[in-house]
Amino acid sequence: MDAADPLVRVIHKVPDDSHARPNLDDYEALRATFTWDEARGWLDGLPAGGINIAHEAVDRHVTHGRGEHVALRCLGKDGSTSDITYRELSQRTSAFAHGLRALGLEPGDRVFSLVGRVPWLYVAMIGSFKARCVFSPLFSAFGPEPVRQRIALGDGRALVTSADLYRKKVAPVRAELPALAHILLIDPPGTDVSDIPGARYLDEMVSGQPTTFVIEPTGDEELALLHFTSGTTGTPKGAMHVHSAVVAHHATGRFALDMHPEDIYWCTADPGWVTGTSYGVIAPLTVGLTALVDEGEFDAGRWYLTLAEQRVTIWYTAPTAIRMLMRAGADLPGEYDLSALRFVASVGEPLNPEAVVWGREAMGLTIHDNWWQTETGGIMIANYAACDVYPGSMGRPMPGILATVLKRGDEGRAAVSADGSVQECGPDEVGELALRPGWPSMFRGYLNDDERYAKCFAGGWYLSGDLARRDADGWFWFVGRADDVIKSAGHLIGPFEVESVLMEHPAVAEAGVIGVPDPLMGERIKAFVALKPGISREPDALAALRREITAHARRRLGPAVAPREIAFNDDLPKTRSGKIMRRLLRARELGLAEGDLSTLEVPAAPEGESR
Ligand code: ATP
Ligand code: MG
Repeated sequence: MDAADPLVRVIHKVPDDSHARPNLDDYEALRATFTWDEARGWLDGLPAGGINIAHEAVDRHVTHGRGEHVALRCLGKDGSTSDITYRELSQRTSAFAHGLRALGLEPGDRVFSLVGRVPWLYVAMIGSFKARCVFSPLFSAFGPEPVRQRIALGDGRALVTSADLYRKKVAPVRAELPALAHILLIDPPGTDVSDIPGARYLDEMVSGQPTTFVIEPTGDEELALLHFTSGTTGTPKGAMHVHSAVVAHHATGRFALDMHPEDIYWCTADPGWVTGTSYGVIAPLTVGLTALVDEGEFDAGRWYLTLAEQRVTIWYTAPTAIRMLMRAGADLPGEYDLSALRFVASVGEPLNPEAVVWGREAMGLTIHDNWWQTETGGIMIANYAACDVYPGSMGRPMPGILATVLKRGDEGRAAVSADGSVQECGPDEVGELALRPGWPSMFRGYLNDDERYAKCFAGGWYLSGDLARRDADGWFWFVGRADDVIKSAGHLIGPFEVESVLMEHPAVAEAGVIGVPDPLMGERIKAFVALKPGISREPDALAALRREITAHARRRLGPAVAPREIAFNDDLPKTRSGKIMRRLLRARELGLAEGDLSTLEVPAAPEGESR
């Protein structure tokens, strides 16, 4: 840590008595004693044996007398609010599970969803777990081809969707999905759906079904979820997750996100991204709190209003959303009463130190970065409510998680010697971030791709594909994805480091940095910069700004690491989960094939309009 760096200052956390006492108040002590067996004991297990996510997330709260507590508070796009208690959720998911069985779906059969964040999505997910079917949530914004690819790969038998979404996204590819027998529609019965083969209204499917469902014994290793990765580095992979993963969802929800049963919690992620499932549905419900479900898309004013009006206490979001809030202005949060908010966390991309500092200044709150992947199923490395925060660091491993950094070979990934062994790096040495397998939410394979799965392991470690360093005190610092790292004039440069410095400039809203082949330097650094609103886009003004930003970067990073080229681009390509797609910036720059674009987000509509 560089104490002279104005952004690298520790935020010392003193647990505040006016708030809930953090679940994790002594990191070292908990790490020393924690076991996954103990964490499993915090859940109930099925009365008939085994462990099932639906029982831990919903039914057990009813058994424990908390049936009347609100499980989901659903905010509709039309401004409506509807509450679903744990008892109602238990009943609705039971009826859904019976409905699936009545259709002939059996344990192991795959149920997909292609629908916005409406109550049926949540009912279908948990109801599918009850019926021991495997659930796979897709972003409703996906086009026909990504939908086809995923349902075909996952062998989907049923799809929860709307007639409108079906006609736009599924009808064009339905002929290529012969196994997809049932289209379960959220639309009110009576709408004409005669053009949709296998269509059934969900309302009719559940009507008259019993509202209790005895979950059959569910094995620890039974498949529960298929989750596709974000597609940031290439074609998305289908990660397979099992029912016992719920042990990790619950423990990480309590420790890394500090969830308490009385919290009002808002995870802004769509369940089409693993964050919206593990921490938008499963973890919060296992804790028994009230989770907000917001059907709408990002809108700075509406988001602050939601935080204020709903008295949100824990907020889990992503750097891209935080950068958009920063873009909307530091004065805006002051107009809202955010006094209920206790804990803010972020995941998905590196959280620029500037964003942490902004959180302190604009909201008086520390934004806690944490790191994990679709493959890990749950949070692995985190900044905790009661622990100091070093802006720019993703924190320390969860109790129960052993993480390390492995020495790199020529291609930038961990070097594996002929006997299969690997070597750990010393403090502050950059290498591949790796985890010791064995935590409950670890993926059990990539769908139909055993070879790729096998390649994720070496020397007793799971290799993450990300580069990081660990400092002498045990804090982890993200450097970049192995694929995105730039080699320039003998330096290894992580785009994050350069992007974070660019973001310190007051005109810069966001930046994506890539390496461009260069005969002298190997690669030279090129930055694509999105500007804040109100900054002049006139050519002369941009030329001056380019010089100013370059000078700032050279001062902060030194000439070897500062970008040689800066291009202005207000619409950086992003995945639907909000990650900058540097591979696409690179492909476009070099005129190469653009590769898999199934998860590319369409450019943002002006504020206030839905996308
Ligand atoms: P794909 O694997 O298809 O290329 P993806 O890796 O973006 O897509 P996800 O599983 O959604 O798919 O994202 C996990 C990745 O996101 C991590 O491997 C890491 O690169 C990045 N990430 C997540 N959290 C953080 C964080 N706190 N700091 C830095 N990077 C993060
Ligand atoms: Mg990945």
